[in-house]
Amino acid sequence: MKTNNSENRDRNIPFSKGKELIDRLAQEHSLTREEWTALIRGRTPELAEYLFEKARAVRIRHYGHDIYIRGLIEFTNYCRNDCYYCGIRKSNRNAVRYRLTKEQILSCCSKGYRLGFRTFVLQGGEDGWYTPERMTDIIAEIHASWPDCAITLSIGELSRAEYLQYFEAGADRFLLRHETFDADHYSRLHPPGLTAAHRQKCLWNLKEIGYQVGTGFMVGSPYQTAENLADDMLFLRKLNPHMVGIGPFIPHHDTPFAGKPAGTAELTLFMLGLIRLMIPRVLLPATTALGTILPDGRERGILAGANVVMPNLSPEQVRGNYLLYDNKLCTGDEAAESLQSLSRRMEAIGYRIAVSRGDSLNTDF
Ligand code: SAH
Repeated sequence: MKTNNSENRDRNIPFSKGKELIDRLAQEHSLTREEWTALIRGRTPELAEYLFEKARAVRIRHYGHDIYIRGLIEFTNYCRNDCYYCGIRKSNRNAVRYRLTKEQILSCCSKGYRLGFRTFVLQGGEDGWYTPERMTDIIAEIHASWPDCAITLSIGELSRAEYLQYFEAGADRFLLRHETFDADHYSRLHPPGLTAAHRQKCLWNLKEIGYQVGTGFMVGSPYQTAENLADDMLFLRKLNPHMVGIGPFIPHHDTPFAGKPAGTAELTLFMLGLIRLMIPRVLLPATTALGTILPDGRERGILAGANVVMPNLSPEQVRGNYLLYDNKLCTGDEAAESLQSLSRRMEAIGYRIAVSRGDSLNTDF
């Protein structure tokens, strides 16, 4: 697979200069746009090792060796949007579409609870079939049935009123990646009508309502530069989210970006380390996309500062159809049923899976 490092690599910075930036980041939790750009573009394997050691220490200081797990329920792959990178975009006629009933979703939760999950993430395309009434009913029933669990939604851009209604029905958290901060870059990844400004406005609304908010971006998405990533870091600093999900862009064969190079695990891991130092108490997942491009991506993510994994809890018969990108993992240790095996892998690197809601310690509500 072709890969995109987001920049050309002949601008390495000297180790001493990079170390100075990383040390200052660890102390002051911020850098300027120019410093971010220089550090990201000029990174070297030696600097990455230095960064990961610091990021691990910070992660252990706040979260010990615990790994929080979330049960991911991909409840619909119908989507009204047409994002150029995404395999479930509405123009993809080859996608095998499905949506889960309330009963199916509840049975995923029930199974997940037995396995030890205390957070359920409902993720899907923007699917109008789930009207506010239906969605509220689903959320309220999960909330009533498993009051000790957190409910996370990841269902895209909605009105402030809908976000509020779901929050009042019992949703605690919301994941909405900003994808890329820069308006021009955003417009190269999305059709007209979808804007960076609106996506960011949604995030501010979610925060104001009181959700624990997760945002994030794809690493190595087409046309991305080191400056774009610098802007992403500055945006994260400003939003100060409870969680940040990042993963490499991976092409999907039935999208306009089919021929674009994938992002790298190397840059994704470097960005994970930087985020851990910038927002020490943030929840940071080692994502499925990272696990997809690197066999030991989960472990490497944890060792770069991540502290969350999100195994797949969707019904087995639909799992293979939530294809955001090619070769997306959904079996093996990616499956919620394989928690024991995932647990062993985490223990092998000195960490342990926690049975808890795993709330963020970044308590800036
Ligand atoms: N509809 C919801 C959920 C989107 S899918 C929403 O709008 O938030 C979750 C995430 O998968 C996206 O935010 C995007 O960052 C990521 N994703 C989509 N296509 C991808 C691809 N081809 N490669 C890597 N990540 C992708």
